[in-house]
Amino acid sequence: MKYYVGIDFGGTGIKIGIIDENGKILIKDSFDTDPSKRGEDIARHIAECTEKVMSDSGLPREAIQGVGIGSPGLLNPETGQLKVVVNVPNMNDVFITRILSDILGKPAFLDNDVNAMSLGEFYYGAGKGLKHVIALTLGTGVGGGIILNGELYRGASFTAGELGHMSIARDGKSCPCGNSGCLERYVGRDGIIERFMIARNKGLDTNIEKYLDKGKITPKAIAMAAEAGDKLSIKVLEETGEILGAALATLVNALNPQAIIIGGGIANAGEFILGPARKTMLRLAYAIPAKVVKVLKAELGNDAGLVGSASLVVANLS
Ligand SMILES: [Zn+2]
Repeated sequence: MKYYVGIDFGGTGIKIGIIDENGKILIKDSFDTDPSKRGEDIARHIAECTEKVMSDSGLPREAIQGVGIGSPGLLNPETGQLKVVVNVPNMNDVFITRILSDILGKPAFLDNDVNAMSLGEFYYGAGKGLKHVIALTLGTGVGGGIILNGELYRGASFTAGELGHMSIARDGKSCPCGNSGCLERYVGRDGIIERFMIARNKGLDTNIEKYLDKGKITPKAIAMAAEAGDKLSIKVLEETGEILGAALATLVNALNPQAIIIGGGIANAGEFILGPARKTMLRLAYAIPAKVVKVLKAELGNDAGLVGSASLVVANLS
């Protein structure tokens, strides 16, 4: 059996785990990182934590094939250099894979967290056994990953898959990326909450109060209210699905995938969003590719980042 190490590098913390050939997690642990330290020291700390997990696992050293690290922000997967890590600016420009590989004596691979998660779903989740898969994560931001012919498609400057920033409305709502009318502004967290507030302010009935998240309206609260039959919440999620479905139709026409996998916190609203998304996609896309594609919920849940990061090793060594 072969084993792969995954490092899910977030803003202030890291999750490290080891998976086997079937994507099963053998061991996982989490650690804090101190963003005020020098970038290279943070990288060395990550390597030391990884060393600990590798030795805690009790696995023979030679069974471990390599280490994959998924990070938010801009980076170069070919050189293993982080470019812009928004939450940990001290990590900018650090050649993280070189440091990991020097300390651990294993090949190391870097990619952005959404590409990593997409590979995880492709190998071990909802995309298992397929060749052409698109993954979308719906959360505060909306990210994407494109896998064609069994390989992650990175594009000319490693930015392919920024599906949350496909333009769906000329002169639409302004987006944190600097443009306006991006998909993220309509099906991401804030877009959903905004549409809910507008509908509620029109005086439409809702029982959302019972489901508030620490007193706040969140997509999770809206999904819980929808589950309990709240008509306004159901309508807002349905509308979210319809907007998403139109974007999916574009992807289906452009790339003819076998599956589009929807993950991220908002995907927990399940069929409230996916049902209308599927219906709208079927209506708007060409019939032949629309008939082939499946719109599926991601399967890896909270472990998506970890399994995805470890999948970078699988993708690079196979
Ligand atoms: Zn944008």
